[in-house]
Amino acid sequence: MSEQKLPTRAEDFSEWYNQLVLRSEMADYAPVRGCMIVRPYGWALWENITAALDRRFKATGHVNAAFPLLIPRSFIDKEKSHVAGFSPELAVVTHGGGEELAEPLVIRPTSETIIGHAYAKWIQSYRDLPVLINQWNSVVRWELRTKLFLRTLEFFWQEGHTAHATLAEAEAETRQMLDIYTDFAVNEAAVPVIPGRKSLSERFAGADQTFSIEAMMGDKKALQSATSHNLGQNFAKAFEIRYLDKEGQLQHCWTTSWGLSTRFVGAIIMVHGDDQGLIFPPRLAPHQIVIVPIFKNDEEKAQVTEATHAVRAELSAAGLRVTLDERDGVTPGFKFNDWEMRGVPLRIEIGPKDVAKNSVALARRDRPGREGKSFVPREGLVAVVRETLDGIQKALHDRALEFRKANTHDPKNYDEFRNAVENGFAFSFWCGNPDCEARVKEETKATIRNIPLEQPGGAGPCIACGQPSQERALFGRAY
Ligand SMILES: [Zn+2]
Repeated sequence: MSEQKLPTRAEDFSEWYNQLVLRSEMADYAPVRGCMIVRPYGWALWENITAALDRRFKATGHVNAAFPLLIPRSFIDKEKSHVAGFSPELAVVTHGGGEELAEPLVIRPTSETIIGHAYAKWIQSYRDLPVLINQWNSVVRWELRTKLFLRTLEFFWQEGHTAHATLAEAEAETRQMLDIYTDFAVNEAAVPVIPGRKSLSERFAGADQTFSIEAMMGDKKALQSATSHNLGQNFAKAFEIRYLDKEGQLQHCWTTSWGLSTRFVGAIIMVHGDDQGLIFPPRLAPHQIVIVPIFKNDEEKAQVTEATHAVRAELSAAGLRVTLDERDGVTPGFKFNDWEMRGVPLRIEIGPKDVAKNSVALARRDRPGREGKSFVPREGLVAVVRETLDGIQKALHDRALEFRKANTHDPKNYDEFRNAVENGFAFSFWCGNPDCEARVKEETKATIRNIPLEQPGGAGPCIACGQPSQERALFGRAY
């Protein structure tokens, strides 16, 4: 019930984010440093994210399963770059049932190894392929610098793991899942993203190729929003995932993995939110509509209550996610601000005058003040609400895309480049040399977010060394 204002994004973006997550009751800190508690409002958003993704996974032939939380320590050691990448952040269980364990166990930082072990048993012949499994779970990577949803020791996600007979099939799967993430981000979350492949230094530990989608946050920094890895035969060789081909020859499989995590919640907050608080895209919002009753006395209350209940029932029956704020002891004005802070895309106000006129007032969250307000008849309300929600969904996407375009630069030289990455992304030629990438990172704190799949073509000098280059990379400072 605090009337204290949020810091504006311009004043302190980081503090705006932190306070907003707590005040909107999306998440809270946990007693163990690095952990987070996802509160019901945050989890409701995550549930809508999972539903939208799960639908897409199943439509492309994937099935869900559950693999164990505990993995033998030795499994992690089996794939050379995997162990190098993950060892520093492992949580290790050394005791169980009051006794020291003969072999320590790790809490999964990701599940390639345990799933590789299972696939080696399950896959015998080319007839067993492809295997297309996903799991929804949480993983642990030791991390003490907590930032709710963005950087936590334990986080929630899905991890898909597939096995294929050929490299071409594995590559097609990797790209298909990247497309699915892109489609989800753009069409469900209204978050415009740039799909591309990672440079060698930013690849997943154990992958031959990593693809990502990258989004620009409201502070012009980048957030890697999902990844899709072609693991080649690295895990297949480490775990002996093999099959007999049609000629009776024993072959190693080709595997992939891909994931999207609760970090994406952070992306939604930072891409769409404004100084008043959250703005949720209608397709994912826990509540798409909030109804606020307005009355001064008992007689008005009775009339208004009848109308608000009827409207709620009508919208709810139409499959819309609607909540009615009947809290006592707070003013309508307080409720307006409270739900604005919590990001509900559309507010419906109903007072005695509206009841008399058989109409309601609509207020769009994405357009504050009079501009976003309209008065519509009760007759045909469902259609108008649907249309308005679609309009908000589109407006959020277009605004975010415009913001990203306005803050993506094409610097002419290294000096301009240094400036550019302090104010957004630089889309610049890169020769492919890791030394140039390292120098840029060292000197500007910007990293290669990815090499976008969509290239304008042509050639030009590498932004760091001036050597002729064929491709542009997306540079930016990242979360
Ligand atoms: Zn270079």
